[in-house]
Amino acid sequence: MKEINYMELRFKAISENESFARASVAGFCLQLNPTIDELTDIKTAVSEAVTNSVVHAYPSGKKGEILIKVKLFKSSLLIEIIDFGIGIKDVDKARQPFFTTKPDQERSGMGFTVMESFMDSMEVENNSQGGLKITLFKEIKTNANEVKQLG
Ligand code: ATP
Ligand code: MG
Repeated sequence: MKEINYMELRFKAISENESFARASVAGFCLQLNPTIDELTDIKTAVSEAVTNSVVHAYPSGKKGEILIKVKLFKSSLLIEIIDFGIGIKDVDKARQPFFTTKPDQERSGMGFTVMESFMDSMEVENNSQGGLKITLFKEIKTNANEVKQLG
């Protein structure tokens, strides 16, 4: 698959940056002419991943950073959401629906389930230097403008 464009965003892991991250990634993906539904899926998945890094990665209070990398291909995209926090001991368990380590804070444990169902694939890995990397992949199936041009 040939990469046609890429971008990286690095920002402080605070909740004020959640909508910024979601809107920035969505804006960048517009080049692939996604449908509204595809764009909504991407925004929702990015939101869940960024919120996780804000809420779970840096429990000591000293806020760290989040790094987002996006690669665009002709009709698909790859998004990496990386933090440098505590990581996850048991990734398989954390990915299960309704698993949460923060039930007291109105967390429902559905973040990973949402990301997985809204994207075509999701990988969750601990970084070797600490922290977590989420890799999300999605095909952009409807390319409205291209269809119009061909027609
Ligand atoms: P919800 O997303 O529904 O508000 P949640 O965040 O607890 O609840 P998930 O997003 O599915 O649920 O995450 C499951 C668990 O995985 C979390 O409770 C947390 O223990 C762990 N986790 C998720 N992301 C990270 C992260 N970036 N760093 C450390 N732990 C994480
Ligand atoms: Mg979550």
